[in-house]
Amino acid sequence: MTSVQTVIAADPEASCDADLAAGPWVFDLTPGYGPGASERDTLPEPVVRPDQLPAAYQRMDEAELHARIRAAKETLGDRLVVLGHFYQRDEVVQHADFVGDSFQLANAALTRPDAEAIVFCGVHFMAETADILSGPDQHVVLPNLAAGCSMADMADEESVEAAWEELTDLLGTEPDADGRQPVVPVTYMNSSAALKAFCGRHGGIVCTSSNAATVLEWAFERGQRVLFFPDQHLGRNTAKAMGIGLDRMPMWDPARFLGGNSEQALQDAAVILWHGFCSVHRRFSVAQIERARREHPGVKVVVHPECPMPVVDAADAAGSTDFIQKFVAASSPGDVIAIGTEVNLVNRLAAEHPDRTIFCLDPVICPCSTMYRIHPGYLAWVLDGLVAGEVRNEIVVDAGVAAEARVALERMLAALPR
Ligand code: SF4
Repeated sequence: MTSVQTVIAADPEASCDADLAAGPWVFDLTPGYGPGASERDTLPEPVVRPDQLPAAYQRMDEAELHARIRAAKETLGDRLVVLGHFYQRDEVVQHADFVGDSFQLANAALTRPDAEAIVFCGVHFMAETADILSGPDQHVVLPNLAAGCSMADMADEESVEAAWEELTDLLGTEPDADGRQPVVPVTYMNSSAALKAFCGRHGGIVCTSSNAATVLEWAFERGQRVLFFPDQHLGRNTAKAMGIGLDRMPMWDPARFLGGNSEQALQDAAVILWHGFCSVHRRFSVAQIERARREHPGVKVVVHPECPMPVVDAADAAGSTDFIQKFVAASSPGDVIAIGTEVNLVNRLAAEHPDRTIFCLDPVICPCSTMYRIHPGYLAWVLDGLVAGEVRNEIVVDAGVAAEARVALERMLAALPR
């Protein structure tokens, strides 16, 4: 399999972001997104920005970096666990002890309570969740602190607090005759720890793309409406599949009074959708699906629910990364499958199933550019630090935030079908 990094390096025009071809050390100097994190995280001292990564690591060739990573892992043994997100580049994933989505990885870390260090090759909100769920003596490390998430940044704590105040001013705080609160907040896993904590203290809950419908059912048992953030598409696609009309899903724009809605629209709402989205998944379009069907008659199209609603409607199936993997595993040799999710995962699935034709719906190579910031150079640097007894780029969630966020995460676990 030719890696995404190799393809982009050879042909910058093949990518949605020509900056990706400039190489990690240049690319990292101009992060397009913020940290995708709780502003109340305790940052390591000193904060090592990408441009401060020791020059030796920037100069090492890939073979040397991989050798260093392997050597450090061998030295650290069971004291270390390395987690790799599905969307992570192959050059990093090859060193992961577990590969999965953010919640699977946080749970995988729980199976290793003796590991002193959890190195999370993902983005900031994922490392925060791992820190919240891990033991008090475990250190969670994010190899590159610039690895944030554009979607998580779209709902910051201040904007959500302001929206909550406007909603409670309008709708009150008293439960109805059935004991249901006026609004229950639901945050997608792809959000800062501060927003998970917000949900914890306001009777709300966290969801993933695998369990969003179950979580919405939980919320409707306790609330007359839901405020869903940050991903409008996951919220809309899930609520629509549950039979909720689009006219009962107003969108909340934090820059406008009442999110840009009338009082009546909010009173009639079932799900109030935050205006966030994933920059990777919003690129998928109905035109791409039509083209795939034209060029590959009989193609099966499966997409992630972070894609816009018309794309989900035009696909044959939609679901989480776990669902997409199972969809591919359940297909037959000779099948042609077009996938609407991040390209590293699609390429990996194609390599795992060489007897099928599997391709990404988006003809332009568009990796998650923040996850892409975890280069083997950063992984080697943090692992060498651990060997030397130094924890670099540790993610520490404020204790009060972590306690409230854990409440919302535990509600999610309790809400899941057993
Ligand atoms: S794929 Fe989208 S939601 Fe996931 S980490 Fe990247 S920007 Fe965030």
